[in-house]
Amino acid sequence: MKLSSLLCLFLATFTLAACGGGDSGDEADPQPASDEITVTDAELVGNPFMQEWDTPYGVPPFASIENGHYMPAIKKGILELRAEIDAIVSNPDAPTFENTILAVELAGEDLTRVSRTFGNITGTELDDELRALQTEIYPMLTREYDAINLNAELWARIRAVYEQKDSLGLDEQDARLLELQHRDFVRSGAALSPEVKQQVADINEQLSSLTTSFGQNLLGSTKAFKLEITDEAQTAGLSDSFKASVWSEEKGAWIIGLNRSAYETFMTQSEVRELRETMFNAYRLRASEGEYDNGLNAIRIAQLRAKRAELMGYQSHAHYQLETRMAKTPQAAEDFLLRVWRPGLERAKEERADMQAMIGDEFTFAGHDWWHYAEKVRKARYDLDENETKPYFDLESVRNGAFEMAHRLFGLTFEPVDIKGWNPVVTSYDVKDADGNHLGLFMTDMYARDSKRGGAWMSSYRIASNVGGDSVRPIITNNLNLSTPPEGEPTLMRFSEVETLFHEFGHGLHGLMTQINYSSFAGTSGSPRDYTEFPAQILEHWTAEPEMLAIYARHYASGDVIPEELVERMRVAANFNQGFATTEYIAASLLDLRWHMLSSEEAAAITDARAFEQQVLDGYGLIDEIEPRYRSQYFSHIFAGGYSAGYYAYLWSEILDADGFAAFKQAENIWDPELAGRLKKWIYESGGLREADELYRDFRGQDPSIEPLLEGRGFAIGDSGEET
Ligand SMILES: [Zn+2]
Repeated sequence: MKLSSLLCLFLATFTLAACGGGDSGDEADPQPASDEITVTDAELVGNPFMQEWDTPYGVPPFASIENGHYMPAIKKGILELRAEIDAIVSNPDAPTFENTILAVELAGEDLTRVSRTFGNITGTELDDELRALQTEIYPMLTREYDAINLNAELWARIRAVYEQKDSLGLDEQDARLLELQHRDFVRSGAALSPEVKQQVADINEQLSSLTTSFGQNLLGSTKAFKLEITDEAQTAGLSDSFKASVWSEEKGAWIIGLNRSAYETFMTQSEVRELRETMFNAYRLRASEGEYDNGLNAIRIAQLRAKRAELMGYQSHAHYQLETRMAKTPQAAEDFLLRVWRPGLERAKEERADMQAMIGDEFTFAGHDWWHYAEKVRKARYDLDENETKPYFDLESVRNGAFEMAHRLFGLTFEPVDIKGWNPVVTSYDVKDADGNHLGLFMTDMYARDSKRGGAWMSSYRIASNVGGDSVRPIITNNLNLSTPPEGEPTLMRFSEVETLFHEFGHGLHGLMTQINYSSFAGTSGSPRDYTEFPAQILEHWTAEPEMLAIYARHYASGDVIPEELVERMRVAANFNQGFATTEYIAASLLDLRWHMLSSEEAAAITDARAFEQQVLDGYGLIDEIEPRYRSQYFSHIFAGGYSAGYYAYLWSEILDADGFAAFKQAENIWDPELAGRLKKWIYESGGLREADELYRDFRGQDPSIEPLLEGRGFAIGDSGEET
């Protein structure tokens, strides 16, 4: 029963929970009410979720699944889960690891299958019908999981087993399952008084609706804006390939939407300053006005999270969230961010001055000029033009490069297989380990479309497990949002998109290579947020290594490897604009922390999301020309995803990936077999087997240091974190 992870996947909702304040274990509590749920056999006739899937690799039979199948299958799954939990609770035998801990872990298998499919499909193929279903299904699941997490009799059994943990003779994986399950129940509020449990359950349900609505508003407002250009003069600066990719024959216009890939390309290339300003404002004002305004949603979510934290005995939601993370406290996370923020902001100011110098007195440089002039300075200073590099980064060969990297490091092989995915653009691969054993199925969906949420992510249709000799291997997906090229043309990528592909591939390997028996902490499940990015980010370091480039960076037409002198220019330019990148990212991270460091009382006083945001950002000295990577109203990571009080995690994980990759550099071999072997065993195969700092030491042989991170961003190192 992997409750939290499947919801967190797209919703985030409520990995929130208790501190173990009160202890009401054995009382006959009134349980938080669960729904009256009924489903008739007639409603389930022909429902693919009621059948074994005899498809290749057990992938969902996508073509036969209709929107109408989800709700009855979810209801049926809930009823089965209830029966399983009842059986555990009413078991007359004394609680044991098998009859309680393992039974809870395994409960709800059918529900997981349908919820995962639903969660994944709504991430990529959302339509109005599915949108309506989300608003019904997620609150219903939240109520159901709360009823389990707050079930007093179940808690009493789990606690009873936990109290004997030292005398049970459990092996490491079983002991970890017990530890984590006990902790999750405590943190979900199992040990609270009945009245407080009910309040927590009510909050969870409200949060579930609000986070769903937040995501839907964002998608709605993103879709609602299209820049339409009919006058060719207004396309000045845009490359032929970009123009071709946004041309609509039907409308006789170039149509540019707000997906990040199109946005960045347009902002970089367009010579038309007014249009850049239009796009800039459209992007940063998403979900900020009218019917899709998320301002009140954000405030309400922050207030409810703060209230819930208070009920559980925490100072704030951030204090609750960070308790089980590597950072441990919000203060530690903020201190760390500020150590990188200061040199980053100083660098950004220098970059701004460089760009103003290039512009001269013609006009005052503004936020909507940043991408465009950064590219001009880059060209002038490093003679590097992204149109010169893109032909070497063809999706097909980049993807094969990632596969080859996994082969050299870990002995894996990827064989294309013909499987019908959820969308015609999906491609699938059978992944095998060095001995030729099947490890999992890897499915990729690389292109943007209106039904798909923005950004890039890894997900699973099935998580690995191995209980009682029944080995189940995973089905893992990678999703990007590349612009679809014109018919017959290759998909050429910016280098940042190449890094994103390797990043998601790293999460993918974490899911594919896992050797953990229990899905609740296999792969990316159950790891702290500020560690989970490490296995993804470390692979980004390989992308720019000459040996790696020689493998995958080949001209799409000529097949020539990217010239060394171009690589050299890329390397020199790599730290360029790091001030901007660091500042926009940390600004969003600080904003996230501050939304979630509010006490319940402080949160209750907020009435205007933009005003709160401005006050926070001004307090840190953010300059006007840089937007936080996400503003509150479209910060779906934290208000509709699993990253609340956790957006800092990418940079925290960078301590680990920069330090980890430094080990390969010190060994002077990016394929060093011994290091790769430890990386495989302790990171990619070990999921959440041990605490994150311990797993890191197992791999690295020592604690990480922050210096490689600062060096990697081109910031000199000083004790105070000031630039020296
Ligand atoms: Zn990631």
